[in-house]
Amino acid sequence: MSTRAVFRHIRHTITHAPEGGFSAELFCTTFGCGESSDPQRNPNDAQEWALRHTGLNPDHALFRREYTDHARVTRAG
Ligand SMILES: [Zn+2]
Repeated sequence: MSTRAVFRHIRHTITHAPEGGFSAELFCTTFGCGESSDPQRNPNDAQEWALRHTGLNPDHALFRREYTDHARVTRAG
């Protein structure tokens, strides 16, 4: 008696999924601040927050930016 395993290789692709949305968030990196723009669907809104934040706190001028989107994996064929 023998045991046999069959593995099928199935191709998949991964693509950007615009229906999942997009977000941008900027984080102030000044030590002890910890403020962020919160996730914004419009990246310009996140940047506007950073400009206002530095306007109110001139020594808070460095930000970490995070952009996220969604991806969809589809089975080919
Ligand atoms: Zn700050």
